[in-house]
Amino acid sequence: MAIPALMQNYGTRTLTLVRGEGNYVWDDAGRRYLDAISGIAVCGLGHCHPAVTEALQDQAHTLLHVSNLYNIPAQEQLAEKLVTLSDMDNVFFSNSGAEANEAAIKLARRLGNERGLAVPRIVVMEGAFHGRTLATLTATGNEKIQQGFAPLPEGFLRVPFDDVAAIEKLAAQHNDIVAVLVEPVQGEGGIRVPAPDYLNKLRDLCDRQDWLLMLDEIQSANGRSGKLFAYQHNGILPDVVTTAKGLGNGVPIGACLARGKAAQLFTAGSHGSTFGGNPLACRAGLAVLDTLEKEWLIERAAKLGEQLLQQLREQLADCAAVREIRGLGLLIGIELDRPCAELVEQARTRDLLINVTAGNVVRLLPPLTLSDDECRQIGATVSTLIENFTRQAA
Ligand SMILES: *Cc1c(COP(=O)(O)O)cnc(C)c1O
Repeated sequence: MAIPALMQNYGTRTLTLVRGEGNYVWDDAGRRYLDAISGIAVCGLGHCHPAVTEALQDQAHTLLHVSNLYNIPAQEQLAEKLVTLSDMDNVFFSNSGAEANEAAIKLARRLGNERGLAVPRIVVMEGAFHGRTLATLTATGNEKIQQGFAPLPEGFLRVPFDDVAAIEKLAAQHNDIVAVLVEPVQGEGGIRVPAPDYLNKLRDLCDRQDWLLMLDEIQSANGRSGKLFAYQHNGILPDVVTTAKGLGNGVPIGACLARGKAAQLFTAGSHGSTFGGNPLACRAGLAVLDTLEKEWLIERAAKLGEQLLQQLREQLADCAAVREIRGLGLLIGIELDRPCAELVEQARTRDLLINVTAGNVVRLLPPLTLSDDECRQIGATVSTLIENFTRQAA
C-alpha cells in the first residue's frame, strides 16, 4: 500500500517486519522468516546481536553525539582497529556507503588537481554500483539509475568489468586518469566474481601508471567474503578502500580508508561530516569487529559460503535455466536465463527472505552467524524454488 507521506522512490513494499533476533525476522502478523538477505548485507552478525545491543545501550546512556569539533574516543579506537586489520594508514568516517565513495572520489580529484589536470578521470566499470549521490550514481554503470538527473558530473571513463586490457587501452588514450574505482565482487550488478588475479593485475597497472587503486567494499567487506576485506584474498593492498553496510550491523556508518600518498591528500577543512564517526555509530563498529573476531565469523563465512555454493551447484546441476552459480564467501548469486523477481514473493511463502538483483540473479547475503542446518535449509529452499519456477515455460 502506498503511503502518501513517503516519496514513491522505493515502489510498493508488501512486507512489514517488526522484530528480529539472530538469523530470523518476524512480520506484523507474527510470522517468522529465515533471513538470507540481512538488510542487504548489513546485519552480518544477525539481528540484535547482544554485543552490539549492549554497546549501543551503554553509549546511549553516556553520550550520543558531539560533532567532529571534538575528540571522540570511540572514533579513534575504531580507526586504529580498522587501520591495523586492513593494513591501511588512516580513515574518514561517513554515515553511508555513497558518502564513503564520495570521499574516495574527492581524494582522486584532489590528486588530479595537485597534478594540474583540468578534468582528472576515474576509470569505472560496467555493471558497477557505487551509490545514489550525484557523483556516485555517475560512477554507477546503470543508465536507469542515471536517467533524469542531468547534468551529471564529468570525469568518469567506463570499461567492461573484469577486463584489464580495456583499461590498458584507455591508459594509452588518456593522460588525465588518476584512479580506478572497482568492486572486488560486483554486488548489485549480480554477484559478479572476476578472475582470481583481476585485482592483482589492476594493482600492477595502477603502480605502473601512478594511479590510485580504489576498491568499493561497501558490500564485500566486514567478513562477508571470507576475509575482513575481499582484497585480502589477493595479497594486495589498495590505495583507497571504502566500506559501510556490515560495519555497524544496522547502525548507519561508512568508512573511507587510505594508504600512502592517498592518506595525505585531505588536510584540515578538505572534507567533513556532522554525524560521521559519532560515538554511537563507532561503538557499533567496534562491537562488530570485536564479535567477528571472537566468534570466528570470518572463517565461518568462508566455510558456509563454500558449502552453500556446492549444495546449490549439486541440487541445480540439471536445471537448464540456471546460467551460472557464483560467489565468494556469503556473497552468492544464481543467474537464471530469465527475469525472476517473482521468486522473492515465492520464497516468503516458504518463510525465507531472499533478493533478486540485476533482474535475473537470485542474491543470497545471509548473516555470517547461520548454523549449518539453516545454511542447508536456504540451499534446499532456494533450489526447489528455482526448479519449480523454471519448469514453467520461459
Ligand atoms: C550499497 C552499496 C553502495 C551504496 O551504499 P549506501 O549506504 O546505500 O549509500 C555503494 N557501493 C556498493 C558496492 C554497495 O553495495
